[in-house]
Amino acid sequence: MRMQGIQQTTNVPYKYWSVGELLPKREMRKLQLARLREQIDYVWENSPFYRKKWEAGGFCPARFQGAEDMRRIPILEKDEIRASQEAEPPYGMMRISGRGPINRVAMTSGTTGDPVLIPFTEEDYFGVFCEGAARYLWAAGVRESDVVHVAFGFMPFAGLAGAYDASEHLIGSLVVPGGAWDSAIRLKMIRKFQVTVLIGTPTYLLHMAAVAVEKGIDATKLGLRLILTAGESGLMSIPNTGLRLERAYGCKVHDFAGTQETNNFLYTCDQGIGHISEDLVYCEVLDPETYEPVAPGEQGALVVTDLLQKTHPMIRFKTGDIIDGIDEAYQCSCGRTSSRFKGFKGRTGDIIKIKGVCVSVTGIENVIRGIEECSDNYEYVAMRDGEKDKIIVRVEPKKSLTPDLWRELRSRLATALRAAFLINMDVEIVAPDTLPIFELKAKRFRDLRP
Ligand SMILES: [Zn+2]
Repeated sequence: MRMQGIQQTTNVPYKYWSVGELLPKREMRKLQLARLREQIDYVWENSPFYRKKWEAGGFCPARFQGAEDMRRIPILEKDEIRASQEAEPPYGMMRISGRGPINRVAMTSGTTGDPVLIPFTEEDYFGVFCEGAARYLWAAGVRESDVVHVAFGFMPFAGLAGAYDASEHLIGSLVVPGGAWDSAIRLKMIRKFQVTVLIGTPTYLLHMAAVAVEKGIDATKLGLRLILTAGESGLMSIPNTGLRLERAYGCKVHDFAGTQETNNFLYTCDQGIGHISEDLVYCEVLDPETYEPVAPGEQGALVVTDLLQKTHPMIRFKTGDIIDGIDEAYQCSCGRTSSRFKGFKGRTGDIIKIKGVCVSVTGIENVIRGIEECSDNYEYVAMRDGEKDKIIVRVEPKKSLTPDLWRELRSRLATALRAAFLINMDVEIVAPDTLPIFELKAKRFRDLRP
């Protein structure tokens, strides 16, 4: 049964989940402004953390007259959240006073420091966070008749937990658990339970497809109808990763993203275009050095403000992601009026400038995944060579490729990388099973420069 979410209205055409996907731009901007105003007043009244931070930065709610005043509000860094949780465990500033009870908790993966705890009230979890999830599930075509499997180990990872809960409670699909299953068991159970929708990180789902090949299982015959990825850059940012998954499982691939601290507010429609849930969050794209807005549509650092979430509202949260930009004028043939998200470039620290060129994980991955003979496993390293910086790209070939063909693969990959980035990179083809294997999120870049 299609249940009533906070945003969903009953008179929305069946193809869409929420009226928020269809608002004319002008109405959307009005709605965002009203919600921003409410949110700013709310945290000023209820969060000593924000009040102190904003006072120190010379901001008070009276200074907020319109969206152009967003730049007056101090940026929120992840380290501040971490410090507040150390000072006032367990939640620190992540729990607005008087807001409760907390009945759901998530945690960041801790790749850039201690994990941050993320508490939710029931209203904020199901009404706001899972509302974001229902949008991407519905847009991908997940319906109550589907059988969904979310391939993850039930660690407190809000992204995939939200997909699980929204599939079950908001869309009304049957969701098959299986936290501790390994890939071989998952493949078996997908068939047994007649799973039609598989959700996971691109790294893990590609790994599972490789296990299927090893076991002689044809993953295109598992009966899957849809794949949804999250947790790392997928189809929205790396088209060739999407294509690879599509070929491996023989079904349509969708992608969703966001941050655990805010929401999953980015998702692909049936045209493969990234859309933003602009009534749930307010996105800004800023110069990563000055934190001033970039020109419309340009690349920059993504900063996000929660418009509805009240347990731990993030106001101007620096996500740490560099994105390709937001196209507000894009008119998608899917009928959604929301702005187009042009893709992730990578985490701030994963993008390096070599010989004046920006090199990103997503850019390198797209080249590698476009070459059939490369396996899914690779890494790249930045090093100092005398006075100059250089990049070494290490790739494992597919196991079926005999070593006499590695040299040819190496030169083909080097040519493709040069064509994509206009600089030379050192390419090494290394024997299969030598690089680290990642089962959830991959860490593929190492900066070894002094
Ligand atoms: Zn669209």
